[in-house]
Amino acid sequence: PGVAPDDLLRRADPALGDAKSQGRNHVCLFDDSLDEALRVRHRIEHGLADALAGGELAMAFQPIVTRQGHEIVGFEALLRWHTDEFGAISPATFVPIAEESNLIHALGDWVLETSLAAVSAWPGQYVSVNFSPRQFRRPNFVGYIVERCARAGVAPERLQIEITETAIFDDVDHAAETLYRLRQMGFRIALDDFGTGYSSLYNVRKFPLDALKIDPSFVGAMGREREAAAVVQAVIHLAQALGLSVVAEGVETQAQVDLLHLAGVTHLQGFAFAPAVNGTDAALLAAQRFLEDRVSSLVA
Ligand code: C2E
Ligand code: CA
Ligand code: CA
Repeated sequence: PGVAPDDLLRRADPALGDAKSQGRNHVCLFDDSLDEALRVRHRIEHGLADALAGGELAMAFQPIVTRQGHEIVGFEALLRWHTDEFGAISPATFVPIAEESNLIHALGDWVLETSLAAVSAWPGQYVSVNFSPRQFRRPNFVGYIVERCARAGVAPERLQIEITETAIFDDVDHAAETLYRLRQMGFRIALDDFGTGYSSLYNVRKFPLDALKIDPSFVGAMGREREAAAVVQAVIHLAQALGLSVVAEGVETQAQVDLLHLAGVTHLQGFAFAPAVNGTDAALLAAQRFLEDRVSSLVA
């Protein structure tokens, strides 16, 4: 009662968003906390567009090392946004907001371009770039990747494409075709956050993959929860049987390194080795090739 039509529509929007985020067949009522969340969201959305134009964004690169010898085989490219107003904002917060607006494409372009420029300075490592579901589903994703790599003069073997199962599950045949073509040209494909969400054995069989990435949440819980350890073990066995690499992410302690080593993981990534570092430091690490000790002095 007493709400103007404009206001009613404005309020329906966050309630709809909230309902959608909980899956199908949900009803959500508007309340003030949604309005506040919407305001924060709009500020992030606008701020991000300015950040992209104004150079407030940076890429950081986190080494991925072999289990044996800790050789750096690649770096995951991770987006960083430092704002004057709020300090650092996590990509886990702003990437989903960009994903819901059209910003994700401009953002993704910048990420790919910056990552391909970085890989050119390394002796042989690959760069592993995250692609959100909407980026992956854009028309002619294959052509887009090929064109960007050609323009940067980067060989396909030096780009790893990280996607999650969310990107593939709504159109499995189209995704399989896209990945098949990319893999055939030599691009590497990693399935990110494996073990969370819709993890499906069907996907692992159906898609041409190079690596499975085990989510930090499993690695962190491995020493405490029998269930987490069992999932890690199962994913590693599966990868071995299919001839895939398996990257354990979020490895923080020596105890985790030992457990993962025993379980047969092929690659490791995490603070136990190095955090994500800036482009200059990544080039230094790449040239050094091996990570003997924890590189805790470097933080991007
Ligand atoms: P992700 O792809 O699962 O990335 C791994 C996250 O684990 C990163 O968080 C990384 O900084 C963090 N991490 C690395 N080592 C450790 C560790 O030892 N312990 C713990 N607890 N965490 C560790 P980050 O950088 O905050 O990124 C969060 C998420 O944002 C990423 O998750 C990814 O989904 C997304 N993201 C980041 N950069 C990009 C990007 O350029 N494009 C897209 N589409 N998404 C991105
Ligand atoms: Ca990732
Ligand atoms: Ca991950």
